[in-house]
Amino acid sequence: MAHSGLEKVKERVAASAAKAERSDVPELIAVSKTFDADAIRPVLEAGQRVFGENRVQEAQGKWPDLCVEFPGAELHLIGPLQSNKASDAVALFDVIHTVDREKIAKALATEMGKQGRMMRLFVQVNTGEEEQKAGIGPPEVVEFVERCRSVHGLEIEGLMCIPPVDENPGPHFALLRKLARESSVEKLSMGMSGDFETAIAFDATHIRVGSAIFGVRG
Ligand SMILES: *Cc1c(COP(=O)(O)O)cnc(C)c1O
Repeated sequence: MAHSGLEKVKERVAASAAKAERSDVPELIAVSKTFDADAIRPVLEAGQRVFGENRVQEAQGKWPDLCVEFPGAELHLIGPLQSNKASDAVALFDVIHTVDREKIAKALATEMGKQGRMMRLFVQVNTGEEEQKAGIGPPEVVEFVERCRSVHGLEIEGLMCIPPVDENPGPHFALLRKLARESSVEKLSMGMSGDFETAIAFDATHIRVGSAIFGVRG
């Protein structure tokens, strides 16, 4: 059954990709944080399988059952990860977008080894160098990605950013794309409900869209 929020976003994604003359369409991550299983189920029923959550504990409360009900669901952690939650995160999620410090890289490497599970990983970049925001500062990204690889044996698939709320996001997306090239990673996780069309023009490969699909969060 179709889900109107999801259909509208997918149409906008396709239109933006066409306008940017892209031959591919970015992966749409439906961000279901704060929404309960009853709100998420219609989106699964409409065929969406890739979802984002920003808290490990909240995701543990709703996703194990939904994953049984809807095989093939893929979960992305898009919020900050504490190292004491690394074990739970590795067990539940498929992709983590918020690798942002050495301690987390190390904890993830250890847990992936223990659980025999390879995660797909993105490094979060604080493109606006905001004090309150997580992420590696732009000047340190190349070296951090390299250390994730050489010291911790992690495969880093891409970079992720959340531009400052009060700024034009374009320059932040351009910076993330440049840093990805410099660190030899292919994927770009950027763009939310308010700016995913801009992100698509800057080659986003993964967009994280919540309220445009699910409605305003309470
Ligand atoms: C909540 C959230 C999103 C989705 O935000 P919307 O504006 O609802 O699309 C995307 N990325 C991160 C990291 C988030 O925390």
